[in-house]
Amino acid sequence: MRVSQFFISTLKEAPSEAELPSHRLMLRAGYIRKLSSGLYTWMPLGLRVLRKVEAVVREEMNKSGGIELLMPAVQPAELWQETGRWDVFGPQMLKIKDRHDNLFCFGPTHEEVITDIARREVKSYRQLPLNFYQIQTKFRDEVRPRFGVMRAREFVMKDAYSFHSSFESLEQTYRVMYETYTRIFTRLGLQFRAVAADTGAIGGSGSHEFHVLADSGEDALAFCPNSDYAANVELAEAVAPATARAPASQELQKVITPGQKTIEEVAAFFDTSARNVLKTIAVMTHENEFVLLLLRGDHQLNEIKASKVLGEFRFATEEEIKSNMGCRPGYIGPVNRSNTILADRAAAALSNFVCGANDDGYHFSGANFGRDVKLYDSNVHDLRNVVAGDASPDGKGALELCRGIEVGHIFQLRTKYSEALQATYLDENGKAQVMEMGCYGIGVSRIVAAAIEQNFDERGIALPSGMAPFQVAIAPIGIKKSEAVRNAAEQLYAELTAAGVEVLLDDRDERPGVMFADLELIGVPHRIVIGDRGLKEGKVEYQGRKDETAQSIPLQDAVKLVQ
Ligand code: ATP
Ligand code: MG
Ligand code: MG
Ligand code: MG
Repeated sequence: MRVSQFFISTLKEAPSEAELPSHRLMLRAGYIRKLSSGLYTWMPLGLRVLRKVEAVVREEMNKSGGIELLMPAVQPAELWQETGRWDVFGPQMLKIKDRHDNLFCFGPTHEEVITDIARREVKSYRQLPLNFYQIQTKFRDEVRPRFGVMRAREFVMKDAYSFHSSFESLEQTYRVMYETYTRIFTRLGLQFRAVAADTGAIGGSGSHEFHVLADSGEDALAFCPNSDYAANVELAEAVAPATARAPASQELQKVITPGQKTIEEVAAFFDTSARNVLKTIAVMTHENEFVLLLLRGDHQLNEIKASKVLGEFRFATEEEIKSNMGCRPGYIGPVNRSNTILADRAAAALSNFVCGANDDGYHFSGANFGRDVKLYDSNVHDLRNVVAGDASPDGKGALELCRGIEVGHIFQLRTKYSEALQATYLDENGKAQVMEMGCYGIGVSRIVAAAIEQNFDERGIALPSGMAPFQVAIAPIGIKKSEAVRNAAEQLYAELTAAGVEVLLDDRDERPGVMFADLELIGVPHRIVIGDRGLKEGKVEYQGRKDETAQSIPLQDAVKLVQ
């Protein structure tokens, strides 16, 4: 590719709203451009990277028996009403109406659609097992879209769904998918960890998440350094059950008014009114400050910022809440598990400066565990109560905590969807049986951001070559002026292209500083600089993206070196 025939649009500075290195760099390098909250265009450079991730995912899925199809992004409400999820999925689901007033959603996930396919198409046990997958755009109206494509509203997911005539068969495919995910993330050159997880909104029994390890990760992971034990502390996000309806925000305003409050008053507040009025309460600390997050059943977050003033809590003023004072509150949501932490215990723990509190059936998700919040109760083996130093449930030592970015999630769904939608097959005796199901997701677009979190420096993006947009850049100095430089650059470009190398020829006739800055920012792993002076001795300069300095090499060695 010649730069003159491609589109590179780099920025010196990232917009100030971009907090994470990956978000800043993806904007600066011109990988992505924001259209609106949580909506991004994949620019030509970024798209090349996205396609590489897709290709690895597709290849490994195909290798392990996945069968690719493509389902519609828009799904009819009736199907979701059949499983009951239309009403309980919550405001993450974007609901739309067509011209005939028929209701649809923009698919946040595809269990309903694929199970509908299975119930129509699969007749006999002889056709099973099956593992269908797609790589497709999802929409989730995230409560807090942020970090660019890391937590977007529209994003690319690989989602696979398997169907089985027995639980053993499901377990086998689940294991195969676990191994496939391990291969995918290894091939992409990511540092990652598989952890036990809750099944959240998708439901089912067993579940593992795959996390790219990064300090900026939204998830907290507990692991035992002496064993295989690893789990997500916060467990999966879920949606509000219909029973969790709480009062409207006006009523909340009445209960909590700005002003000085003592610990006792806060305790009383939690203990009495809050338990009934608010479904979820958490107290988070960020540096010296508190954030109270009050979650209503319909997932509208009300944040109340409090700061600690000599043992007193002051509830934040409306302005302070609005400006959010630089804190990064997490997200709290209900789960389909009972919770051991009650609001009144949170009140007691307030005096310890750290606590978390949920009403029954609620949990933390997305909070910056350890930094922003610690849970009060640590005497049970419930993951939500884990703190660093606790004994690992397998008895192999003390737990450590680290942070991760969820890039994959596999579930044993069992018969949750097949039963609701009556997806049955005929067994050996001609008897109708409900299919066992598994589902397996990968955040394809999130992986690009997560990989950059692990691969950048002060000069820009430094992705491993398997993900980089181009493998080699040729940077000719004075391409317009010097015929020798032009000829050498063109010849090298032709040779590398013929050898199947993805090569970018910077033919813009820019100053070396401009060329180098751009090529380093966008993250090309190998750079060959061609200049008149070196050419006189048949030499060019080679520098790897992570090298400190360039080395002089014979021009004829260049192709071999970068292959
Ligand atoms: P999260 O906990 O980050 O909200 P999730 O558990 O809701 O993710 P799943 O339903 O497990 O997500 O979806 C499968 C994968 O899709 C996730 O592992 C993640 O990599 C990706 N994903 C989910 N939500 C988003 C999003 N808003 N933006 C980008 N990728 C996402
Ligand atoms: Mg999750
Ligand atoms: Mg989510
Ligand atoms: Mg998940």
